[in-house]
Amino acid sequence: MTGAADALRRLPSVDEVLKKDAALVAMERFGRAAAVEAARQALDETRAAVRAGKGNGVGAEAIAAAVLARLDRDAQSKVRAVFNLTGTVLHTNLGRAVLAETAIEAAVTAMRQAIALEFDLETGRRGERDALIRGLLCRLTGAEDATVVNNNAAAVLIVLNTLAKGREAVVSRGELIEIGGAFRMPDIMARAGAKLVEVGTTNRTHRKDYAEALTGKTGLILKVHPSNYRIAGFVAEVSAHDLASLARERGVPLVNDLGSGTLVDLARYGLAHEPTVAEAIAEGADLVTFSGDKLLGGPQAGFIVGRKDLIQKINRNPMKRALRVDKIRLAAIEATLRLYGDPDRVAERLPTLRLLARPQVQIEALAQRLAPAIAAAVAPEFAVEPVECKSQIGSGALPLEAIPSAGLAIRPRAARGGGSRLTVLAAALRRLPIPVVGRIEDDALLLDLRCLEDEAGFLANLASLEGGADAPA
Ligand SMILES: *Cc1c(COP(=O)(O)O)cnc(C)c1O
Repeated sequence: MTGAADALRRLPSVDEVLKKDAALVAMERFGRAAAVEAARQALDETRAAVRAGKGNGVGAEAIAAAVLARLDRDAQSKVRAVFNLTGTVLHTNLGRAVLAETAIEAAVTAMRQAIALEFDLETGRRGERDALIRGLLCRLTGAEDATVVNNNAAAVLIVLNTLAKGREAVVSRGELIEIGGAFRMPDIMARAGAKLVEVGTTNRTHRKDYAEALTGKTGLILKVHPSNYRIAGFVAEVSAHDLASLARERGVPLVNDLGSGTLVDLARYGLAHEPTVAEAIAEGADLVTFSGDKLLGGPQAGFIVGRKDLIQKINRNPMKRALRVDKIRLAAIEATLRLYGDPDRVAERLPTLRLLARPQVQIEALAQRLAPAIAAAVAPEFAVEPVECKSQIGSGALPLEAIPSAGLAIRPRAARGGGSRLTVLAAALRRLPIPVVGRIEDDALLLDLRCLEDEAGFLANLASLEGGADAPA
């Protein structure tokens, strides 16, 4: 007991700790108040440890070092860049689309300087923020008018609320989708104040099903692109074109929620065709909604394009203000859309398309180049092998479409306990200065290299793995 009492008496004071070099650095970096607070906390913890019979306490120097380490650790941003080696190009949990350089520059300008956001520079009068992108969106989609809101979920919500509040929204049973993150069509309808009228069956819906459901209370017909699933077999759906003719006959607006909605034909890049927004407009939809950060490759946003009278109605909905997009994203959206003005070069300049279109041979060559360095980093416990694999688009676009890719399969050399070893290795990779996120598949940790463009940065980062694979999880 006296030993502990002695140890407690010998502990330094806060003032003594703050005189040590590491504490002076901490004060310089984070301010006096934070350093004092951290020193008190470290001393409290040391005192508690001594009382619990764990050690005899430590000196001022060691406590000051702990103070600095803690403050440095706490100061690390929670927004961490990662290497996305999952093989999912538009990974919702990893932030979906990576922006084009011109979009980044535009966003920086909008952050750093005042911009003509809602200001008409010609007349000097108040302008409208949608004017920044309306022309571009109309040109790229063939629509008459366009607006933008927070995301596509918001786009669907405000369309339903504007056209079908207190009225009926007619949807096929095969299209009552759930997207991740609690976006379920029936729930959105309820929140929008629209009454859901389901027509057809899960696998088959016919024109007459829609026709019979249309009444004086119908606010709109909604067609939803089944982004993240496919119904196959004995199926029937009414094409957007036929639905549009029915809608026109009965004087009811047809809304087509495309989800990802690309602005270019992906078949150009050897991918399966995904309906383009221009096609949806040409098929006769009155409104089309789609995301900004899926295949379009821009920041999070939701676009609504189509008939001018309907867009004007949406713009008058008080919800519009609550769902509007800020200047930073608007700037990035404008720059992203401009890239589509040159379809021949958009795949070079827009990371989403560039990564999706990246040829497998190029990724294979990268896998061959990186294999020795990765093998060295995870030796001797693991073996590394360049392999062919399959990437996917992600975010619900073409869910069944696997894109031939290449990567590195990392496997434990010992058969026993292999699974837990892989989990430990995956955790060590996530602890790197730039965390590396792969996927576990076929008893291997697979690093799909489709989205790896910064080869030098990746190798430099890997150097920190030294012993990381052996560290406890
Ligand atoms: C992704 C998706 C949404 C939601 O879009 P967000 O931009 O993520 O809000 C809505 N409808 C469909 C069909 C989708 O694929």
